[in-house]
Amino acid sequence: MIYPRDLLFILACLCSMCAHAQTKVAVTIDDVPNTYKFRKDQFVPKHLNALDSLNIPITIFINEGRIYKTDSVSLNFRLLDEWCQRDYVTPANHTFAHSRYSEVGLDSFIVDIEQGAIITKELAKKYGKTLDQFRFPYNDLGKDSSQHKAIQQYLDNNNYYSTPFTVESSDWMYNFVYRYYLENNQVDSAKFVANNYIEQTLNLFKFYDSLAVETYDRKVDHIYLCHDNEINADYLSVLTDSLSLRGYQFSSLIDVLEDPIYSQKDVYYKKWGISWFYRWMPDADLRKKWMLSEPELNFIYKAYQRLNQ
Ligand SMILES: [Zn+2]
Repeated sequence: MIYPRDLLFILACLCSMCAHAQTKVAVTIDDVPNTYKFRKDQFVPKHLNALDSLNIPITIFINEGRIYKTDSVSLNFRLLDEWCQRDYVTPANHTFAHSRYSEVGLDSFIVDIEQGAIITKELAKKYGKTLDQFRFPYNDLGKDSSQHKAIQQYLDNNNYYSTPFTVESSDWMYNFVYRYYLENNQVDSAKFVANNYIEQTLNLFKFYDSLAVETYDRKVDHIYLCHDNEINADYLSVLTDSLSLRGYQFSSLIDVLEDPIYSQKDVYYKKWGISWFYRWMPDADLRKKWMLSEPELNFIYKAYQRLNQ
C-alpha cells in the first residue's frame, strides 16, 4: 500500500530527477577554529586563506571552546571572526566542548549546545547570517530512541536543524598520519597519504552514488563532512577540483537540503556516527550489507594504529 506521504516523496524525487543535471555537493567543515594549527602557523589562517581561493559555499561547525585551548585567546577570537565574516561561510553550532551526547546525557549536552552558541550568535548577527544548523559531535545522536527523541525535541523547540552528512572519509585519521610525516620531514610519505585521501574520498562518492541509484533510482545531492585540519588546508582544493571534473557542482548546505532525500525519517537509534544514507534504511540487514561493501580504508587505518601506539 502506498501512503499519501510516500506518494509525495516519490513525486518529489521524480521532479528532482528532472532538475538534477548535475549532482550538488555541500562542503561542511567541523571543529572550527583549529587554534592549535593557527598557533603552529604563526597566526596565519592558512586553511581559511586556502578556502578564499576556492570560491565555493562552506558551512562551518564551530566549537567555541577551541578559542580557549591556546594562550592567544584574543587572536583566536579574531580568527573565528575572520571565518564568520567571509561571504561564502555559514556559521553553525557544534557545541562548546565537543561532548559526546550518549555519554554526557541530555542536561549536560544542552548546556554544551547553548554555551557553544554565545559568540557565534553575536558573529552571525554582526555579519547578517543565521544560526540554525547544529551538528552532533561524533554524529552521536544518542544511545537509544528515547535519547534521540529527547534531543530532537530540544532542537525543534530551539529552531535548530540537525545537520546530516552523506559522505565522510575519516579525514581526521588521514590528517594524523599526514601531520606525522610532515613533522618528521618525510614529505614523499605525506604526499602519498594525501593522494590516498583524495582517491579514497572519490571512491566513497562513487560508492554512495551507486547506493543512491540502487535505493532511489537516481543520484542525490551530497553533504561532505571534513575537518579544519592540515590535510584539508593543503588538499581540499585538489579534492574539489577532482569532484568538479567528475561533474559535481558545489552548492550551499541550505540548497542541498532541498533535495527531498533529506526529508526522510532517521530510523537508526544507536550512537554511532554513520552516514544518513544508512540512517534512512529501515532494514538493518540491508544497512549492514551496504556498510560491509564500502571502499575499505585499511591503509590509513593501519598507518594510524601504528603511529598512534
Ligand atoms: Zn566534531
